[in-house]
Amino acid sequence: MAGEPQDDCLFCKIVGGSIPATIVRETETTVAFRDINPQAPTHVLVIPKAHYRNAAALAAEAPELAADVLRETRAVADDEQLESYRTVFNTGGGAGQTVWHAHAHVLGGRGLEWPPG
Ligand code: AMP
Ligand code: ZN
Repeated sequence: MAGEPQDDCLFCKIVGGSIPATIVRETETTVAFRDINPQAPTHVLVIPKAHYRNAAALAAEAPELAADVLRETRAVADDEQLESYRTVFNTGGGAGQTVWHAHAHVLGGRGLEWPPG
């Protein structure tokens, strides 16, 4: 069922606490933790606690939860004192998605090129 934890999902395991992560923020519906392979001085992932396979499914099936995730990206940027930052949702393997639990990357702390690669 949409939103149910998946046994084989890395980020569901981080939500459940069976895989450790450096958690920087948590709300009733979201968790934010540092990316294990940071691409910038600040690289934090914001995820909904509930499982949705990507940002598009999250937005379509749980729009209020999608808004919670977006609100938390701003909160992470504030906590990290970032004036400028980038929020990225890789959606699909061709765009670099490797974990099939919706997540926003919050990147900042260095100059970010546009357009991205
Ligand atoms: P994506 O490639 O957009 O699906 O993003 C997945 C991200 O999860 C990558 O940036 C990985 O470095 C990150 N990642 C994978 N495993 C972990 C982990 N155990 N803890 C924190 N971040 C992770
Ligand atoms: Zn999951």
